[in-house]
Amino acid sequence: SALYRIDRWGGPYFSVNSSGNVSIHPHGANTMAHQEIDLMKIVKKASDPKDQGGLGLQLPIIIRLPDVLKNRVESLQLAFELAIDSQGYPSHYQGVYPVKCNQDKFVVDDIVKFGSAFRFGLEAGSKPELLLAMSALCKGSPDSFLVCNGFKDAEYITLALIGRKLNFNTVIVLELEEEVDLVIDLSRKLGVRPVIGMRAKLRTKHQGHFGSTSGEKGKFGLTTTQILRVVKKLAQCGMLDCLQLLHFHIGSQIPTTALLADGVGEAAQVYCELVRLGARMGVFDIGGGLGIDYDGSKSPNSDVSVGYTLEEYAAAVVRAIRSVCDRKMVKHPVICSESGRAIVSHHSILVFEAVSASKNSVPQMTSGDLNYLIERLPQDAIVDYQKLSAAAVGGEYETCLHYSDQLKQKCVEQFKDGSFDLEQLAAVDGLCELVYKAIGASDPVRTYHVNLSVFTSIPDFWGIGQLFPIMPIHRLEQKPVVKGILSDLTCDSDGKIEKFIGGEESLPLHELEGSGEGSYYLGMFLGGAYEEALGSIHNLFGGPSVVRVSQSDGPHSFAVTRAVPGPSCADVLRVMQHEPEMMFEELKHRAEEYVLDEGGHGLDHDATANGLACSFHNMPYLVNSSCSLTAA
Ligand code: PLP
Repeated sequence: SALYRIDRWGGPYFSVNSSGNVSIHPHGANTMAHQEIDLMKIVKKASDPKDQGGLGLQLPIIIRLPDVLKNRVESLQLAFELAIDSQGYPSHYQGVYPVKCNQDKFVVDDIVKFGSAFRFGLEAGSKPELLLAMSALCKGSPDSFLVCNGFKDAEYITLALIGRKLNFNTVIVLELEEEVDLVIDLSRKLGVRPVIGMRAKLRTKHQGHFGSTSGEKGKFGLTTTQILRVVKKLAQCGMLDCLQLLHFHIGSQIPTTALLADGVGEAAQVYCELVRLGARMGVFDIGGGLGIDYDGSKSPNSDVSVGYTLEEYAAAVVRAIRSVCDRKMVKHPVICSESGRAIVSHHSILVFEAVSASKNSVPQMTSGDLNYLIERLPQDAIVDYQKLSAAAVGGEYETCLHYSDQLKQKCVEQFKDGSFDLEQLAAVDGLCELVYKAIGASDPVRTYHVNLSVFTSIPDFWGIGQLFPIMPIHRLEQKPVVKGILSDLTCDSDGKIEKFIGGEESLPLHELEGSGEGSYYLGMFLGGAYEEALGSIHNLFGGPSVVRVSQSDGPHSFAVTRAVPGPSCADVLRVMQHEPEMMFEELKHRAEEYVLDEGGHGLDHDATANGLACSFHNMPYLVNSSCSLTAA
């Protein structure tokens, strides 16, 4: 397991058990031994056919763990409470979850449920997100913040104002100066006193990939000049008391607490200035940015790691605000954060199968084959071959590679000329492979084909090269003997994973044969934030099946509380405006026209129509042989 660094990125939720499987600790460090869940048991329960006691779901599968989500929300709250207590900070922490990180209904509902005791709220960045947040908060605390971020039109602002009428604690955060005119105008028309926040554009700049939202050229927020104009405008129309919250966001994955403290300190100065200018300030919203250590390196120098813990993050925030407010003698604000990644990353695991692996193709060649081939080589290629052999005998690695390249190139030219046939070309390739093997230069990395779409399930890997921990979830008691890269099902060369945490260009893997149960299962961890929300349907691969699994005190230590198959072929076709029902009718007609009824042999009309119906009904991923096209 050290090979996959699970001891570094997995804690406190994932480890390897004595059976060599990944084990889940649903309550983090508070998990008792009998509450641990063997991940393979969940996969088996989810994917076994229904007649064998399983749920008959197809892979890939997302396994959602609400207990982990609860532990994350509580740990964040606890970290801030601890920092507030130990530093004697005179106000409280009240966080929100930015729903854009994962808008899944159950994820949002769970967060509202687990956080309602401490007034944990939601953040929305668009109209549909605001609608879902309002609906979810019906079951939450009325004091929870509902922070409305993002670009806003009249309709968005109207909805947020209606939200206040409905007794939600909505705060309209101005991202652009113009929004203030709409807020003033619409709140008067609707007779609603708004609570207004303002997003400040800070000078503090986060240099990593996720920092492009920060700094003076950042996409969002108000500059100092704009802040002053907005304050003036609000004062002129008697609404300065509505301005109560200051927000900023210096980017996701903030690498160090030093940078964090710098940004928070700068924003705290802006906050104190707003107090001085007469706004009725009360809330300091530090945005997102609490990072995840995806590779377990605790290194602030990469986008996939951060150099602090949850507790250190909270302590740095509280200290920086306190210090500025103390100096300016300003009443200490309620601290709000919009941590998304840090709340939802751990709670879901994507499980997929390796369906085949490339073979290393070193040919079997007799000396007769070799002589036959050499006789046919063009004259100058024979010279290369002789130099190649001499270099191989002398163990001269670089020279060998040089002459084998030359040899190959000349033979390819012969082939293009038509004077070499396909067998001859293959033989030359084989000859070079033999030499590579003899000098230890053959590429030992094999390609494992996985039942997955990178574009659907790991879009940040494709889009921004973000790395996630990926590893086999069983057979971990056996030494992996192969180095592999992963290639997905899409017809796109970008649909490949050939970079892994720790700077590795391959993953230690087991031979596919010998999996016992027939399948070789891999898991991608820490992908609960952004990946599902950003995923596309490239090549019309839709999302995975989803199961929701809670720890239970029953015999298996877990209970599946929800199981949903992923989108079918018909579902994904509909997304691109196709009409599966009409398509089916059209193809059925064609079957009537072209398929001859051969008296019970082969495919008759009905069987053809049945096969077509199944194709529309099944998920686009590879189906196990146990799951044949029989149901209409
Ligand atoms: N708040 C705002 C305004 C954001 O833009 C983002 C994401 O970039 C977040 C919160 C969530 O950030 P994170 O996932 O780093 O916590």
